[in-house]
Amino acid sequence: DKIKNGLKKTKDNMVKQVETLLNSFTKIDEEFFEELEETLIMSDVGVATSVKICDLLREKIKETGATDPAQIKGMMKEIISGMLTGGEALNISTKPSIILVIGVNGVGKTTTIGKLAANLKAEGKKVLLGAADTFRAAAIEQLEIWSDRAGVELIKHKEGADPAAVVFDAISAGKARGCDVIICDTAGRLHNKKNLMDELAKISRVIDREMEGCDKEVLLVLDATTGQNAVSQAKQFQEAAGITGIVLTKLDGTARGGIVIAIKDELGLPVKYIGVGEQIDDLQPFDPQDFANALFD
Ligand code: GDP
Repeated sequence: DKIKNGLKKTKDNMVKQVETLLNSFTKIDEEFFEELEETLIMSDVGVATSVKICDLLREKIKETGATDPAQIKGMMKEIISGMLTGGEALNISTKPSIILVIGVNGVGKTTTIGKLAANLKAEGKKVLLGAADTFRAAAIEQLEIWSDRAGVELIKHKEGADPAAVVFDAISAGKARGCDVIICDTAGRLHNKKNLMDELAKISRVIDREMEGCDKEVLLVLDATTGQNAVSQAKQFQEAAGITGIVLTKLDGTARGGIVIAIKDELGLPVKYIGVGEQIDDLQPFDPQDFANALFD
């Protein structure tokens, strides 16, 4: 299935290495844990999270006296899926609801919006897109292509227009046309952090005012292939934007999918979707158990 294929590189890298380690140590000692920790860190699990996983595993092995590699691998699977906790659905029950999508350029924001729009439409929801990345004409055109592909409506202004005004219009149109979900794209220039954060704050104010009492999601899109960089990007956005969830794209393109675990553990933010390819059906709701199964089974 999609998730298994998407995680194949990480399985072939991280989990294979863990298996090799388990099979090469006749006795589980400190040297084993040192190597395990290194393997996890090399797979972008993050230092603190890798140490935590090793500590939990050490305890479990001590408790049970387990020596069987398969059994220990099972324990790791359990520890990791436990750290990821419940897959959380989008909170978009009110009519209308709004999803603001943020993240730096190139992470897959537009693609994610297109896929999400198609998914929600397939669930029977009426979706409208707002092209509030007015910084680049190409961004508006790209979103238009995706709105056609997904068969949903689009509100756009000209390049250089006020993004908050686009969001305002998208909300008005969404309400007038009886839409269930309004999804707004945003610009992603991190080299101009203050401007970007001010712009997001202005958009948030419009949303808070125009969508009072409605369900809101702020999804931060991160590119899994950028590894620990993704975590620092998230920390920068976290200050400004009231993020409610993460979309982690391009997991199919990395052997270091351990970043999923780091994001959840280091940021405390739920990963709500993962991107495992470029096609319209390659955005998958994130489920910790599916994730752990795809890696360890
Ligand atoms: P934006 O600048 O953030 O809007 O990024 P785009 O949506 O234009 O995506 C940048 C590139 O990443 C495009 O070539 C997408 O096809 C690709 N992309 C997006 N999501 C995924 C994914 O989950 N897997 C893969 N392999 N490619 C992706």
